Formats: sequence, structure tokens, C-alpha cells
Amino acid sequence: MLRNLNPDQIASITSGEIQGLASSGSIRRIAIDSRQVIDPAHTLFVALKGAKVDGARFIPDLIDQGVLTFLVSKDEKCNHPGVTFIRVESTQDALQKLAAHQRSGFSNPLVAITGSNGKTIVKEWLGQVLSERFSVAKSPKSYNSQVGVPLSVFGMEPYHQVAVMEVGVSQKGDMKALEEILRPDLGIFTNIGAAHEEGFFDRKDKINEKLTLFQEVKLLIYCSDHLEIDAEIQKNFARERLISWSDQPGADFTRSIKILEQGARIILMKSDLSTFTFFTQFSDKASLENVTHVIIAALTLQLDPEQIQQGLQHLKPVDMRLTLKAGVNDCSLIDDTYNNDLEGLRIALDFMKMQRAKRRKILIISDLLQQGSSDLWCPEVVNLIQNHDIDWVLGVGKSIQAIGKKWPGKADFFASTEALLQWINPDLFQNDLILVTGARSFGFESVINLLQQRIHGTVLEINLNALTHNFNFFKKRLRPDTKVMVMVKAFAYGGGAVEISNHLQALGADYLAVAYTDEGVALRQQGIKLPIMVMNPLEESFHLLKQVELEPVVFSLDFFKKLNRWCIAQNAHLKVHLDLDTGMHRLGFDREDLAELRSELKQTTHLQIASIYTHLVGSDEQIHEEYSRQQLKNFQQMNGFLIEVLNEKPLIHALNSGGIIRFPEYQWDMVRLGIGLYGVEVTGTHDTALKSVSTLKTTVSQVKTLAPGETVGYSRKGMMAKGGKIATLPIGYADGFDRRFSNGKGYVLIHGKKAPVIGNVCMDMVMVDVTGMEVKTGDEAVVYGQEISLKELADQIGTIPYELLTNISSRVKRVYYLD
Ligand SMILES: *Cc1c(COP(=O)(O)O)cnc(C)c1O
Repeated sequence: MLRNLNPDQIASITSGEIQGLASSGSIRRIAIDSRQVIDPAHTLFVALKGAKVDGARFIPDLIDQGVLTFLVSKDEKCNHPGVTFIRVESTQDALQKLAAHQRSGFSNPLVAITGSNGKTIVKEWLGQVLSERFSVAKSPKSYNSQVGVPLSVFGMEPYHQVAVMEVGVSQKGDMKALEEILRPDLGIFTNIGAAHEEGFFDRKDKINEKLTLFQEVKLLIYCSDHLEIDAEIQKNFARERLISWSDQPGADFTRSIKILEQGARIILMKSDLSTFTFFTQFSDKASLENVTHVIIAALTLQLDPEQIQQGLQHLKPVDMRLTLKAGVNDCSLIDDTYNNDLEGLRIALDFMKMQRAKRRKILIISDLLQQGSSDLWCPEVVNLIQNHDIDWVLGVGKSIQAIGKKWPGKADFFASTEALLQWINPDLFQNDLILVTGARSFGFESVINLLQQRIHGTVLEINLNALTHNFNFFKKRLRPDTKVMVMVKAFAYGGGAVEISNHLQALGADYLAVAYTDEGVALRQQGIKLPIMVMNPLEESFHLLKQVELEPVVFSLDFFKKLNRWCIAQNAHLKVHLDLDTGMHRLGFDREDLAELRSELKQTTHLQIASIYTHLVGSDEQIHEEYSRQQLKNFQQMNGFLIEVLNEKPLIHALNSGGIIRFPEYQWDMVRLGIGLYGVEVTGTHDTALKSVSTLKTTVSQVKTLAPGETVGYSRKGMMAKGGKIATLPIGYADGFDRRFSNGKGYVLIHGKKAPVIGNVCMDMVMVDVTGMEVKTGDEAVVYGQEISLKELADQIGTIPYELLTNISSRVKRVYYLD
């Protein structure tokens, strides 16, 4: 929580000007999202102008909710009696200044971690190890950005004895502002990735940008075996500020590792020859590097080796994801079984708020560990529960029971997870939204197991953060006032239309588009409120369009007349969109139709033209550049001719994902974003900038060893001339694993290694060659995902990524997560 500030103080910290009543009330909370407000009278709403939504758009709604104080940008035209506006040059800068102020009141050590990989894990693990001795504040999830870092700082409370913050930057120049907020005492530089990153010139550039974070630290921990990092650090930091470690002699800590049957022994020797020995259950290179950073940081912060060893015992591979799953009896289940602090709880409850309404909201929660005595956190937990309208709390552990005394709602408490499991039965839940959140040591995975709908083998995981990232990537390429229509046709390119639309609604998309009426009806039934365009509505569905407010595309004179007549007969009014054919030759008005269309438009009183658009046939490919430009020019002429007779100016749009990249000068009023949102950059010019959204995964059903000359699968197509080992996976062409992947055309990743398809793909199964690999039943196999290029795979079998994505069968379960 924010240290108490009044509007005058906030204005002075942020160099803002107060407009309107300077209410004397004190501010204790900061919100940047209108759905996060839980104590309106004491909340400062910061209207960020993100690539996403302009926060100012929510001000009227927030005033209704009772928020009294707003931080807005100078040019914002808002005015409301009884409300305080603090006007600043940039609201993001102002948020950062408030965070810097909050930080300056914290006198205990602050550890900051940056680097390309492992920073979230090091932050989480260090937090856990340090909690053996201290009450720890740490940034939640991977909150490490220009906005995430300030928000993390507001989570630092006076009772915390140490703070651990993770920091990330995506382009040159970003780190300085974050350094000014955090002023870390101790720094950890994890490592530097090999991959080229957009926003940086080269690796040296990236290293130096990251080092900006540490310019004032007292001590900096790093591994000097990363030679490029070592070189830059040696250049810029005095020797006595550095704590280096290395597997070679000469560093402050020399490390030697012995890999054991299970895990590894890490021996650290200091230059005075004193040694420390630790045991960890991890033995892979990356985890050992992360653990070493954690140990050295903990030693530096004066933990005893015994305390550190104690802390290492409980470390688990970090799965920070907040996952939405289908539960038993039509419930939705939010799985947050890793989380165990207040910030995490807050995020999980916000996530819960964003989900579609269900019958009840239920919270299953364990004691909060790492947070000190329950007197400190209990009031805030009660606050959160109250403000998120939770209907029922099931608490597990000793100290969580304290909330029962302060919260009047329905609550049941259990001494242990076993006691809870014995008591609950899935039939207690029906069409509910259930959040399961608890510290690792409570093993809430078993609660999830009990309440989740059985998932068989294959799942499609959808990363909602990646979706947000991609949405923002395209938003940033557009003028701020250009609207974005997102194509959620074909089950949102296979990702699941309802959940994705729900998320887009929150991100501030302006429009959705589907191919057929029933797709639109399904979205409305699940409470999606955005305007929805239907590209190919059939005559039989006119009444549905009206009933659930869908906006049809009109693409021919004949269709225009039919729809117009129907509207007159029903005395109905509809918003419609006009599709002009400039070369696609699919649907749409031709040039010859325009004169007659124009006279129809003049006469109609029942159809309102919401937009006019055309579709490019080859926006993804350079060779069609000339043709695309011709299409755009023709479109301009054609729509100009129609607009002349309209009373209201319709939205004009032409660009799909490829078009946004190639022809931003033709963005007009709106663009239609499709495949790019789902992580495929079709033009190939920004390949590294998008994040892959969906991962299709399955698990090995069986492993077999074959003798030389044996064959695999139907028609004996898979020949094992030399014999070897195969694994059978429960995914086939009926699930969307294309049959053309047969006989080595496709592959999956098992433990990061390629296993090619052997033989023909079957309807429900496929066999892959795992000769020479360590593979056993139950191991995970990645079919599509971050490490597999959909474009390459599609090329292999002569198709396009669109087809691979949309073919994933509806029998494959979708799960959604935030990481
Ligand atoms: C599918 C579709 C889009 C989106 O195209 P992407 O290449 O996926 O971005 C845009 N406009 C129309 C008319 C479409 O049918």
C-alpha cells in the first residue's frame, strides 16, 4: 500500500497541478485499471495512456464507483464537481515519481535483479530463501516493466525487512527511469541471452542498458564466466563493488559442482579459502546458475549457511502461471497454486474479476507464508475478500483462520490440506468460479486435481500475456485514435473465441469480427459486449442478428435489398458494414454495382452504414506490393463515391495483420487484426517481436523398442531399418495434427529435442522416433509452441500457419494462463 499521501503532497511529488476541490482525504492505494479499485475513497486512479487503452476513458465510471482523486495528463478535458484532478505532463512519469517517493521511505536493503533469463526464478527463489530469516517484499509474477516496477514498489510495506525486485527492459533508454525508482542496494546480473532482441543494437548495447540499473549499487553479484558481461562490468565498476563467481579460479567465489544421483552439491570457495557446501535437488545448468546467484546473495545479506540450506530445501521449479481451467460441474477454476503473498493474491483476485460471471465466487486459500505474523496481513486479506464479493472462503492452515473473526461471510477452515480434501466433494460446486491459491508447501495441486475437469493427454495452452504483448505491438504501430477490430472467427484462430474475446474486451479492442452468425451469438450468450461484425450472415439468421445486436456485412445488391426489406417489415434498424471487392473476388460489391448501391443508400432509413472496408489479397508478400497499393487506391475512390451520400461518416478500413506492418499509411479509421495477434508475423519483418500465444502439448502414452527391419503404423510406412525406439502420442489428425506430417515431415519436441514423426499419422495417435533419447511414459511432447516455428512446419506440408492453428480440434482442451 501507498504510504498515506494527500492530494497536495501527490501534486508536489509529481510536479502536478491540482484542479477542482482539494479533498482533504488521504490516499492509500493506487489503481491503473478501473476493475482494480477496492477502496475508492482512498484510491488515486492513474490514467495511463498505454498502447492499450487510454485510462482516462474510465473516469466517469470510476467517479460513479466513488473514486475522488485522479492523476491525469495535462491535455485531458475532464472536469467534475467534488472530484480532484491532478494534472501532469506524463502520467507514467508521475506514477514512477510516486514509486520513487515510496521507495525513499524504505530503509532496508533492496535487491534488484536483471538479465535475459532466470530473473523471475532468481527473484522467487531468493525471496523464499530470505524468508527463512526476514519478512520479504517481492515483485509479483513477472512485474518488471515501466509500470510493473512502480506497482511492485507500492507493495513494499514498513514491516518488510528486505525487498527483492525484478527488472526488465525492452529497449534502449528504458532502464534509467527504473533505476531512479529502485535505487537498489544490491544487484544481481543473471546472464545475457544470445537471441537478437528488438530494441537493441547488439549484445554489448543490451548489457550496458541493463547495467544502468546498477550504477549506484553498493554491491553487484554476477558470474564472470559470461565473458561479455564481465568485460563491460570491469570497465564500469570499481573492483570493491563487485562480487563475482566463476567455475574457474580467480573470482570472489570459485564454484565446483558435483552432480549426484538426485540433484547436485555446490561448493563455493572464497578467496580466503573458506568454503561453503550446499545441496540442491536441481542438476541442470540453468537451475544451478540460478541457485548460485541465490546463495551468494543470501550470504551477502548475512544469512547463515544453515538457514540458506533450509531455504534451498523447499525450492521448486517456478511455475508462476495463473491458469484458468475448466472445472467439474461447469465450474471455472483459477489455478494459482504457486502464489503465497499479498501482491499475488491481489493479482489473482483481479484476474478472477475479469472472468465471466458465474453463480458464486469461491476462494480456497492457505496461510500466507513469507509475510510474517497474520496480524500484519490479515486485515488486508479481509479487505480484498470483501471488495471482490467473494461468496465463500475455504481456508487452510493455522493463521488464515484469523480472517474468520473479521469477515462476516461464509467461511470454513481446515487445519491441513488433507483435512480439506477429506471434507470437500466436487458436488458442492456447481457453475461456480473458484480461485485456488496457496503456498507451495500446502500442495494445493491435489485440490486442483479434485476440482478440474479431467484433461486427456493433449491440451492447447493459451498465454494471455503473450496475447496482450502482441496486441500492444500492433497498437504501437497505429495512431492512438485508430480503432482495432480483432478477428475472432474460426474459434479465434483455434484459441477459443469466448475467452480470447473476453480478454480483448479488457485490453480495449474496439470491435470483434466473426465469419458466421452463430459464432457471434455464442459470444453474446457468454456476455461479450463489444460490437461484433458478421462477415457472412445468412438470410435465415436475420432475426438473430437483430435479437443479439450483431452487425452484418452486406456484400451484394441482392443482399442489401433483402436485408432492407426485412428490416422495414420488422420495423428493425441495423448497423451494417459494406464489403467492397478490390481484387479478392470472394464477396463484395464490384465497381459496377456502386451506382445502384449509392441510390439504395440514399433511400434506406433502416440500415445504418457503420463501416466500409476492403480486403487485401497479398499484404504479407513483397511481390504483391504493387497490387496491394492498387487495391488501396481503388478502394479509396470507391468508398469516396459512397460516402458522399451518407449522413454519418462510416469507419473506413482495409488492413489485416500483414497490411498493418506494410502499409501503416493506409490505416484510416480502423484495422482488422487477425493472425498477428495469435503470434505469427506473416511478413517476416518482425519475427522476434511477437510472442507465440498457443502451445499444443501432449504426453507420451507408451515407449517401444523395435528390432532392425520392423515397421511402424498403417501400411508399414515407417521403416526402422536399424531398429530403435519410438514413442506413441495421443494426438492424431482428428485432433488437428495434420496427416501430411507423416513420415518425417513433422516433428515434436521432447525435453527440447526434435523427435520426427515415423510412419503415417493415425486418426487419434502418432508415433515419433525417439531413438537415442531418454523418454518415458508421461513425458511431455510439444507439438506447436514458442520453440517451433509454425511457418516452417506449415511450409513443410505446403500450407500456411492459419490452417495449422484453426485445425486444432475442439476436443482438445484449452487452458488459459497469465505468466
Ligand atoms: C481473416 C480476415 C482478416 C484478418 O487477416 P489476418 O491476415 O489474419 O490478419 C481481416 N479481414 C478480413 C475480411 C478477414 O477475413
